[in-house]
Amino acid sequence: MKNIKNINDYNFNEKVAIIRVDFNVPLDKKLNITDTTRIDLGINSIKYVLDNGGKCIIMSHLGRPKGNGYQKEYSLKNIIKYLSVKLNREICLVDKYFSDSFSIQDYLIKSDIILLENLRFYSEEKQNDLKFSKKLAAMADIYINNAFGTSHRSHASTNSIIKYSKNYCIGDLVYNELSNINKVLFDEKKPFTAILGGAKVSDKINVIEKLIDLVDNIIIGGAMANTFIKSKGGKIGKSLFEEDNIIIAKSLLKKAEKRNVKIYLPEDLLCSKSINDYKTKTFNSYELPNDYSGFDIGYNSIITFKKVILNSKKIIWNGPMGVFEIDEFSNGTFEICKFVTEATKKGAFSLVGGGDSVSAVKKNNQENNISFISTGGGALLEFISNGTLPSLELLDN
Ligand code: AMP
Repeated sequence: MKNIKNINDYNFNEKVAIIRVDFNVPLDKKLNITDTTRIDLGINSIKYVLDNGGKCIIMSHLGRPKGNGYQKEYSLKNIIKYLSVKLNREICLVDKYFSDSFSIQDYLIKSDIILLENLRFYSEEKQNDLKFSKKLAAMADIYINNAFGTSHRSHASTNSIIKYSKNYCIGDLVYNELSNINKVLFDEKKPFTAILGGAKVSDKINVIEKLIDLVDNIIIGGAMANTFIKSKGGKIGKSLFEEDNIIIAKSLLKKAEKRNVKIYLPEDLLCSKSINDYKTKTFNSYELPNDYSGFDIGYNSIITFKKVILNSKKIIWNGPMGVFEIDEFSNGTFEICKFVTEATKKGAFSLVGGGDSVSAVKKNNQENNISFISTGGGALLEFISNGTLPSLELLDN
């Protein structure tokens, strides 16, 4: 990422910038925003352009609309009021911008700041369609990517638009993400501990492989730990695991051992007979009865993980330790959150990314006690695995 330009490399005076943001915020049933973080973090670059005499065209996706065309619950109308208050300006929302007769100039005469309706109302966006991205690029003088969380996707607004833009750069949010991820991965501080959780090993094979080259410890929790425990011959009862990844899990454990990287798997699990049954029992994680499933890490695992985390100087955390959405199985994840914040207060550098881990941090009101909260989940894991993301790579020349 050596040659990537950032926003202060350009003079925006009398220029039009088209900014890809990630304003994919959660909405409740009444279509009110329940968490404004993505907008709050994404607007600085918009302000920068406006404050420097430029005009802004903002584009984002929201949710996962089904098929083509307008759908009320995914409309950016739902966020425009909040955005307009935050920017202290009137914003013009434009819906049908992919027709030959459409002219952005007509709108730019009336308004300095324009919001294009949900990109995913056009199937061309996800298809990385060249006609669509060319049209987007032609609206502006400079393209800015300020959407780290979607930069692992090769979509028209993140990827092929770069081919048609003469000038392009990253915004402050992406810049902050890249500096902090590089800091956690490559600063000299040691010991370095990665904490991984969640259900799917398949999503995390590449990242574990890469982390083995970089870290001292890897703590693995959540259902993905079951695949590793099973690969070591453990009896995991009815717990969720991935049969197809047992061999890979085994080879990752071997690779870690060779490199002297310690992998910590849960030694005990909080179990019950089904996800709706809260008559829980704790078992040794290698000896679960056939009719039980593990839904959270147990007390002894928490104590062991605590020691490792509190002794760390750099920490990266992605994924819950159990089914943390259910109170009865949330303790392990919330305890990990507590230890990461305690380690941070003692001077460790901590980076947390991924929807579930970030939501655990927020539920515990610990946002200010984590060194950096990434807006990326999949993007974060892919960046760690490959050292770049497809859409950022195109900006790096
Ligand atoms: P992932 O998408 O792979 O990051 O997985 C996140 C999901 O994993 C969360 O919704 C958790 O509820 C779920 N999860 C974590 N641990 C377990 C477990 N032991 N059994 C079943 N689901 C789990």
